[in-house]
Amino acid sequence: MSDVRNVIIIGSGPAGYTAALYTARASLKPLVFEGAVTAGGALMNTTEVENFPGFQDGIMGPELMDNMRAQAERFGAELLPDDVVAADLTGEIKTVTDTAGTVHKAKAVIVATGSQHRKLGLPNEDALSGRGVSWCATCDGFFFKDQDIAVIGGGDTAMEEATFLSRFAKSVTIVHRRDTLRASKAMQERAFADPKITFIWDSEVAEIQGDQKLSGLKLRNVKTGELSDLAVTGLFIAIGHDPRTELFKGQLELDEEGYLKVDAPSTRTNVTGVFAAGDVVDHTYRQAITAAGTGCSAALDAERFLAALA
Ligand code: FAD
Repeated sequence: MSDVRNVIIIGSGPAGYTAALYTARASLKPLVFEGAVTAGGALMNTTEVENFPGFQDGIMGPELMDNMRAQAERFGAELLPDDVVAADLTGEIKTVTDTAGTVHKAKAVIVATGSQHRKLGLPNEDALSGRGVSWCATCDGFFFKDQDIAVIGGGDTAMEEATFLSRFAKSVTIVHRRDTLRASKAMQERAFADPKITFIWDSEVAEIQGDQKLSGLKLRNVKTGELSDLAVTGLFIAIGHDPRTELFKGQLELDEEGYLKVDAPSTRTNVTGVFAAGDVVDHTYRQAITAAGTGCSAALDAERFLAALA
């Protein structure tokens, strides 16, 4: 059993690194799979983070994540910049396989693989992320005071983002590729009643324009093919998220949207010894601080589980 670790953590966003920090400080010597290309998680793709407590003047996303990483490492977390490509979590000893085919064993596993926001798939989308293009009104709305903003999408999230943004913005234009909304009636009515919100129907974004900062959009009417310009300095893409749960299908219980189910308020999944934290569980809050909070809970749940085994 000497090659069986106490705990393996899959994921390196705020949830994974916080779980690493806590389990390392509990002398559990965690092994953390950070991901091969995206170590540090979603905040590596943003600029200023102004709402993570403790940083009065804000902090750049990558710097915040470097700090979390270093803090976990300082207490002995072992960090591997690699992907887990297979996992068998159902037995008493859990196994995960890395990209080289090496199998790693542990008594407990914390899943913190996050969720991927859906993209439009257009050139400039990534380059202008944090420079006018955003996926999170709660995170970035404040930066767009008195500006003209477009929100893309027709579901509840898009309506919620638009009504939230209308508090700050000069105008909010919802661009939707159909002529009706998917959002619930209540959310639709709130958006329709908001004097700052207007709708452009049957349209999609054909081009995201701007050099260092977003300067506007080219829209295409999906019925007529007609192109038009929309001058905006903010673009919020609200077309959904995909939780990274592919590896766990058939082993861990998922909800109807594919997120991992936990026995809330604990982080226990349906499989003994497997815990889950952060955006892979959460489709409500999706914030760095909530991910870090549940990462802490998962570490404490894992620690208590391991103590009971001893
Ligand atoms: P993530 O940060 O998504 O991290 C998951 C990690 O798991 C990734 O590194 C991924 O590579 C890794 N992983 C996945 N699968 C595997 C695997 N098989 N093997 C190994 N590793 C794997 N929130 C705020 O509070 N304030 C903000 O200002 C803010 N700005 C944002 C800006 C942008 C552009 C985005 C996209 C999000 C922003 N958010 C912000 C939201 C915040 O980033 C997320 O809520 C938070 O990062 C979720 O943390 P997490 O640890 O659950 O997952």
